[in-house]
Amino acid sequence: MKMTWEQRDYDLEFFRRELDSFVPDTIFDAHAHLYELWHWKVQTALAAGPHKATLEVFQEQIQWITPGRETHGLFFGGGLHEPTYRASNEFLAREAAKDPKSRGQLIVSPRQDPEEVRQEVRRLSMVGLKVYHLFVENRPSTNDAEIEEFLTEEHVRIAHEEGLSVTLHMVKPRALADPANQVRIRDYCERYPNMRLILAHAGRSFNPHHTIEGIHSLEGIRNVWFDTSAVTEAGAFEAIVDTFGHQRLLWGSDYPISHFRGRCVGIGDQFLWLYEDSLDWKRISHVEIQPYLVGMESLRAVKLAATRLRLTDSQVEDVFCNNGLKLFDLD
Ligand SMILES: [Zn+2]
Repeated sequence: MKMTWEQRDYDLEFFRRELDSFVPDTIFDAHAHLYELWHWKVQTALAAGPHKATLEVFQEQIQWITPGRETHGLFFGGGLHEPTYRASNEFLAREAAKDPKSRGQLIVSPRQDPEEVRQEVRRLSMVGLKVYHLFVENRPSTNDAEIEEFLTEEHVRIAHEEGLSVTLHMVKPRALADPANQVRIRDYCERYPNMRLILAHAGRSFNPHHTIEGIHSLEGIRNVWFDTSAVTEAGAFEAIVDTFGHQRLLWGSDYPISHFRGRCVGIGDQFLWLYEDSLDWKRISHVEIQPYLVGMESLRAVKLAATRLRLTDSQVEDVFCNNGLKLFDLD
């Protein structure tokens, strides 16, 4: 089936039934992209959505998954590769500056001179760095890259010296269960304590068992956080809160991914993204399946974890808002 970009009646009905009493009034979204379509490397899936996702467009569209809520955030661009990242950063800086309670992160290439990174962060008033595996060269698949290939030690040093956050979407098949990833994260965090590392997608727990297996390797690290973005299963959130407490978990929508329909499931030792165009939802099962928005699936997973962990209302507010505000001195 085709990818769509629309709000449906059953979305609202589901929100009212399952999520309205759970999601706090004010949200700090710690992982969302503002962009022009051409900034992205792969544009086909996003083409049905806005071609220019400004802060205003985001504010309006995020109402699809969290109706009636006031949302601020930590934003980055969509140009997560050469050569569009520079234009993407300029666009993002202009958009993030429109809201005094929102912040931006600079997308950096591992080949960038560290002093240039420092100057760009200052010039564009960014609070952190966003790194990505698509910048890695000379590999058959960048999904096998070591962390240091796209987050260099010299850039970590700049983050430490400037007091920056770094959002890292680690790769390699087993993510946080991979010993090399575990060692690199601990090493960077301990030697550069003034850097604040945010592990995207709950430590890339698209298969929750990888984070459940690996989380203890990070125990005791003081400068690591985890965003919930685009994770649609609860297990990794539970493991993170169990190990680090609820104050290290940050709600993130991963807009525009939040507005695709489907979900990600752990299968075997891997994971599988099921989007609208992955299969025929009308015929795949004995009943027609109506896939929810990814962002709503993720909200439901956060709710499941919070319920099972018996988080209080104020702890849930921390996850959705206060932890992020505190991280960027916005509280
Ligand atoms: Zn993202």
